[in-house]
Amino acid sequence: MTPEPTPYTVVDVLLPLGLQSAFSYLVPQDSLRRPEPGRRVLVQFGKRKFYTGIIRAVWQTADKERVRNFKFINEVLDDVAVVTQAQLDLFDWMAQYYCCTVGDVLKAALPTGLKLESETVALALPETRLDPDALTDREYLLLEALTGAGRLSIKEIEQQLDLADPQPLLQRMAEKGLLLLQERMPQVYRARTVRCLQPAPALLRDDNELRLAFDRLKRSMRQTDLLQVVLEAHYQGRTLTQAQALELADADSAAVRALRAKGYIEYKEIPPDRLADVPQHAQQPLVLTQDQDRAVSQILAAWDEEVNRPVLLHGITGSGKTLVYIEIMRKALAEGKQVLYLLPEIGLTKQIIDRMRGAFGDAVGVYHSRFTTAERVESWKRTLLGEIQVLVGVRSAVLLPLPRLGLIVVDEEHDGSFKQHEPAPRYNARDVAVWLGRTHNVPVLLGSATPAVETYANAQNGKYALVELTQRAVATATLPALELVDMRTQERNRLSYGLYSDVVLDALRDTLARGEQAIVFRNRRGYAPVLVCDACGHVPRCEYCDISLTYHKHSDSLRCHYCGYTQGNTKSCTECGHHVLRPEGIGTERLEEHLTELLPEARIGRMDQDTTRGKQAFAELIQKLEKHELDILVGTQMVTKGLDFERVTLVVVVQVDAQLNLPDFRAHESTYQLLTQLAGRAGRSSRPGRVIIQTRKPDHPVVQLIQQPYKDFYNFELPLRSQVGYPPYSRLIRLEFQHIELQFLEDECRRMGRLLREVYRDNLLGPAFPAIARLKNAYRMQALIKILPKQNPAKVKDALREAFKRYLAEAPKKTLRIIVDVDPRQ
Ligand SMILES: [Zn+2]
Ligand SMILES: [Zn+2]
Repeated sequence: MTPEPTPYTVVDVLLPLGLQSAFSYLVPQDSLRRPEPGRRVLVQFGKRKFYTGIIRAVWQTADKERVRNFKFINEVLDDVAVVTQAQLDLFDWMAQYYCCTVGDVLKAALPTGLKLESETVALALPETRLDPDALTDREYLLLEALTGAGRLSIKEIEQQLDLADPQPLLQRMAEKGLLLLQERMPQVYRARTVRCLQPAPALLRDDNELRLAFDRLKRSMRQTDLLQVVLEAHYQGRTLTQAQALELADADSAAVRALRAKGYIEYKEIPPDRLADVPQHAQQPLVLTQDQDRAVSQILAAWDEEVNRPVLLHGITGSGKTLVYIEIMRKALAEGKQVLYLLPEIGLTKQIIDRMRGAFGDAVGVYHSRFTTAERVESWKRTLLGEIQVLVGVRSAVLLPLPRLGLIVVDEEHDGSFKQHEPAPRYNARDVAVWLGRTHNVPVLLGSATPAVETYANAQNGKYALVELTQRAVATATLPALELVDMRTQERNRLSYGLYSDVVLDALRDTLARGEQAIVFRNRRGYAPVLVCDACGHVPRCEYCDISLTYHKHSDSLRCHYCGYTQGNTKSCTECGHHVLRPEGIGTERLEEHLTELLPEARIGRMDQDTTRGKQAFAELIQKLEKHELDILVGTQMVTKGLDFERVTLVVVVQVDAQLNLPDFRAHESTYQLLTQLAGRAGRSSRPGRVIIQTRKPDHPVVQLIQQPYKDFYNFELPLRSQVGYPPYSRLIRLEFQHIELQFLEDECRRMGRLLREVYRDNLLGPAFPAIARLKNAYRMQALIKILPKQNPAKVKDALREAFKRYLAEAPKKTLRIIVDVDPRQ
């Protein structure tokens, strides 16, 4: 009998490189670690580069031919899977649904620290004698630098020798035997922790032990003090860092070592992000209002009936949805499950984190786009291990490993920041959450005061259950009074002082006089959207985009808000040389300036992208408002959400009309949402609130519907959507085609259009130029595909892939950049 041939072990590896499929590699027989789906492997891809990939599948074969072209993996990097099976399935689904590659999804999901790639380093040869005559100048300089340093990375060579792309030079020199090239993996991530001190458990067992310990320490004041400080903190439910403890006890590290040697204290290493805000008293008792209590029961009852059916919690602003979430989350935690709590980028404030930590203490972990790489890896590992039981995070938190997921809450589900626009995957975290829930039988709770029309439609047609909160949580709080100021009559009667009507100015003065605060909103940053030449009417435009430049007074520059292009000349017209350029339109910077002139006694702050660039700037502004160091906050969209301040009683919308005119089928919806959320900032306590909206279209139905019940808005909007067949009456795929040559773009789009029309017939709109036809130096055309309810979305997408394939098969060498956006926001 011939012995069975040794089977080959093969792993299919996903690489975070935007590639469509997994690549197969062989695993050596003597691999130190077992290959398993979800573990990372180090593999070579391409000629030289090494990457970390994720094992998608492991299989065996005895077929030598089949594995003939497979490379060997270098190493299995993990002892346990760092990506769960549920995540791998999710990534597959996302690639399918959003028409992108699994590699794209992986790239978005894995924190940088987990997806290392190698870098090329040049090494000096031991015995290189530099002979200047045999070398070019560049070679000589490089070798000189290399001999000094021993080895240099490509990046270091670029910087030190000011070379744009040293690769070819290095390659040549390596071939000549002047140096060695090697691939090196960068420093592998290591968890960063802070050393804390805590009393040893033995010491805490009984009072005798404690007395004995202090007895023994009698001679050392410092050690006595230190132990005292550590014990005190422990009894208060706090953990002190070593540095804090030493400062409080006025002791040095020798005292720490001595106490540790005696077995009285222990070290505890804690990740720094958990130290920051650990509240002193976890588990605050909740007191729900009757309305909230009923909502909790209804939500739970809905899941008892059908766990797979998402619940929409529709509660007016100030109705206390967070308290309902917390109560529901508590129930999931009691069953030992993990909770994912998603909220918009802007909503993730210290206020909400404090509330979550107040309720769940140490079990809370936060995931934010402003996190460092190390912090992201830390959160990833801690959710994977189940140390984080409540993951509070923005959009990308939905991609983290949650092996014991038992509840998903999506707060402010209508918010646009759940959608990723660029780059792929262009996913909506809310919809991903709903898919996750369905697939794994995990209940999903969506909450909003102003639900997305599609979500509310789902709640109306029974796909989702609907639970409502109709009262503000503070019994004495009422919805603020709404006033519309018709700017046309204001201007006719010469009553308005620049940008502010007299009504608004009086209201601001009253608010200040009462010692209360106001928010002034305008969704446009900068000083003025355009600068116009007084002589010839010329408006400076971006060199790379089809858009006028915004004037920023503070930096005295003209900037493109799309590509960042900046122009310093704001003093004279580039067309005619005239020296008077007039700012036209209103930005937040201008609003702030006028207000400072009109109300010199007021303390005014501004919150927009320009004033919140630093990591802390946003938090500092919020804190100032909280401590009442500001009377008025002027700002963009940033001020609309998550701000919950007792003293804010006045909200002013300076100009709402541009919002309504956006070329977007969601313009009504987003205006209604924005204004309702804004109005919700006023009068959250027992102080009555006031909302004033300045407009030239006071009769516009959407303006009229503000503060009417959401249902009224929905009933107004739905027939309009039905007429044009937009969501919820269809689903959309937006295609964008880009190229720097206009003619080429138009020609290719015509061809593409013909191809697509064959497939989609009347359900294809375009390709056509959008309002901004050139962005970042590329011309663009867009097309829209409607997927009707009776169609199978997966089939529609398959057909799209097929059409692209046909297009590419006949496409010229240079090709269009094609962007596919499934369920686009606008
Ligand atoms: Zn001019
Ligand atoms: Zn631009």
